[in-house]
Amino acid sequence: MRVVFLGAPGAGKGTQAQRLASELGVPHVSTGDMLRTSVESGSELGRKVQGILAAGLLVPDEVMAGVVGERLSAPDCRRGFLLDGYPRTLAQGELLDRLLAASASRLDHVAFFEVPAAELLRRLLSRGRADDTVDTVRRRLEVYAEQTAPLRGLYERRGLLRVVDGTGDPEQVAARLRSSLGAGRP
Ligand code: ADP
Repeated sequence: MRVVFLGAPGAGKGTQAQRLASELGVPHVSTGDMLRTSVESGSELGRKVQGILAAGLLVPDEVMAGVVGERLSAPDCRRGFLLDGYPRTLAQGELLDRLLAASASRLDHVAFFEVPAAELLRRLLSRGRADDTVDTVRRRLEVYAEQTAPLRGLYERRGLLRVVDGTGDPEQVAARLRSSLGAGRP
């Protein structure tokens, strides 16, 4: 099973991804977690992306291509993955298409978590992560609207999009997610 999670910052992707990945028995591949880990470790990648994360901007597509290409080619991703936080631009979507084509595989579902803007803001500002300050949150929501939101239409046209109401408590969202993936399975 190959699943992509799409949605604005604060939409609850990380929370849902952890449980779904363990239910499906596939790795949870979170580009945000990977980047934060590299910042903490002080690696070359971490030093390169630290300022970008703190500013709420996107890490350049070429840099992400290396990160994601390497991770998805690892043996544990052979039978599937849950990709959380990638793609975030149309160019990243194209790279993912190429990676999948090269391994003769394809996506099964793109789950899109729908949450009203006011609720996103409330969640992000109560979360308290290092990049969750008022200015950064505003910037990340703008970047999302400009660069990431167009991916929704792309996957909708391909018949892969499963829209999940992301409001309510995590249990409710998990139940909706499960039923939308079940219903969409070919
Ligand atoms: P959120 O979903 O709350 O924005 P993430 O943990 O997914 O949080 O990402 C945190 C930050 O990591 C982003 O704001 C961005 O700077 C960087 N990042 C994560 N994934 C990508 C990506 N695919 N392309 C570029 N930057 C990314």
